Amino acid sequence: MAIATINPTTGETLRVFDEIGDAEIERKIGLAHERWRSYRSTSFAQRAEWLRASADLMEKDVEELARLMTTEMGKTLDSARAEVRKSANGMRYYAEHAEGFLADEPLADPSVVGASRALGRYQPLGVVLAVMPWNFPLWQVMRFAAPALMAGNVGLLKHASNVPQSAVYLEEVLRRGGFPEGCFQTLLISARKVEPILRDPRVVAATLTGSEPAGRSVAAICGDEVKHTVLELGGSDPYVVMPSADLDAAVATAVRGRVQNNGQSCIAAKRFIVHTDIYDAFAEKFVERMRALRVGDPLDEATEIGPLATEQGRTDVEELVADAVGSGAKVLCGGQRPDRPGWFYPPTVITEITRDMRMFGEEVFGPVASLFRVADIDEALEIANATSFGLGSNAWTNDPVEQDRFIDELYAGQVFINGTTTSYPELPFGGVARSGYGRELSAHGIREFCNLKSVWIG
Ligand code: NAP
Repeated sequence: MAIATINPTTGETLRVFDEIGDAEIERKIGLAHERWRSYRSTSFAQRAEWLRASADLMEKDVEELARLMTTEMGKTLDSARAEVRKSANGMRYYAEHAEGFLADEPLADPSVVGASRALGRYQPLGVVLAVMPWNFPLWQVMRFAAPALMAGNVGLLKHASNVPQSAVYLEEVLRRGGFPEGCFQTLLISARKVEPILRDPRVVAATLTGSEPAGRSVAAICGDEVKHTVLELGGSDPYVVMPSADLDAAVATAVRGRVQNNGQSCIAAKRFIVHTDIYDAFAEKFVERMRALRVGDPLDEATEIGPLATEQGRTDVEELVADAVGSGAKVLCGGQRPDRPGWFYPPTVITEITRDMRMFGEEVFGPVASLFRVADIDEALEIANATSFGLGSNAWTNDPVEQDRFIDELYAGQVFINGTTTSYPELPFGGVARSGYGRELSAHGIREFCNLKSVWIG
């Protein structure tokens, strides 16, 4: 894939970047490694000052930055602005809490291990490579970079090839905020250049947010090299609605959950599993709202859904829909690309999906909802868990017994009751099964790239 900004609204190539060569990669890894030797002993206060300054700069740049993201990957301007603010808040969160999260953990009674003092101490690992996706060009990177930098690691970023200007901006804003050269560097490289970097002994760990094949590749190489990884991969989140739910709220949130980021979010609700007693009412209201969404130029403030980010992304969605329809699924709205330039795909609702259809098991990365009718909570849980993914999950019910069952029995990294999965700096974020492993955000996220060193003093 070329490293280029191609506007998904028009299909026009706006800027092409040359991939950096091996000598430049070598220079950047060397610089990162050298920088880590001094950066690791900077104080939390100093790192926090630089991170807060970077967050302030990002917020000042909000309009320009939002337009850049919208132009590179098609999200609406409003959601791009929200992403800038969310990223800045996440940076401030780690600036404030990192020192507390990484405080020494003394053993209350060191005599049980024959010591006068014993404790756990969190220390940085070194140079970490982050391989990141295009769908949240700032937020995905910052939720790695903010904790990693606060912990005293240094970062190398291999961003998705279709958001190169966002990638360049990220290095630049952290430098402007005060971080010394080499603390965080963007590598404009294609995916095939990742392997030698992972195998370089100066790079000690990696994190990847993206698809399952990319995660598998990075994890296999890091396994071979015995290097720690965090994987944040795909999801096909269930969204169960039971009879006691507030139906109007469940419908409104379902629409928002499915079409956020033009339907391209790992934690978007994707499979809507509705109890038979309220199925018809839910389906009618849901389809009506999905059909009414305004699809258009994401730079237009009135637009609610922009184009998909890449031509291939739209082709993938179309193939999944065609496969389902060819095997008997029913389209309740949408399902046909509009006749206009750009990679648009309409909000779509599909029902009568069977297990032999690709859509049943695969992630649909676009504004397409699958709708299932179930007889009771047991069937709802069975369908919700009939997936190889396990990222987010959602259930709507006001019955406390049902709430407990969903909390206990949904096999996922997160469960949202009467809501839709969202990431917050304060909540651990991550998946199980094919959605990956490890956690981002909260205290858990910053500890992923630390060595918890046991200290024993006789
Ligand atoms: P992708 O194709 O896997 O790309 C993600 C990143 O990995 C890009 O930087 C890509 O580089 C790189 N990459 C691809 N193949 C690679 C390989 N074999 N070795 C090393 N790097 C490789 O995924 P995407 O299409 O950008 O993103 C969509 C996927 O990400 C969806 O499945 C979504 O659910 C998932 N996602 C998960 C989370 C989460 O937190 N769990 C968050 C957001 C998105 P190039 O661009 O150069 O190919």
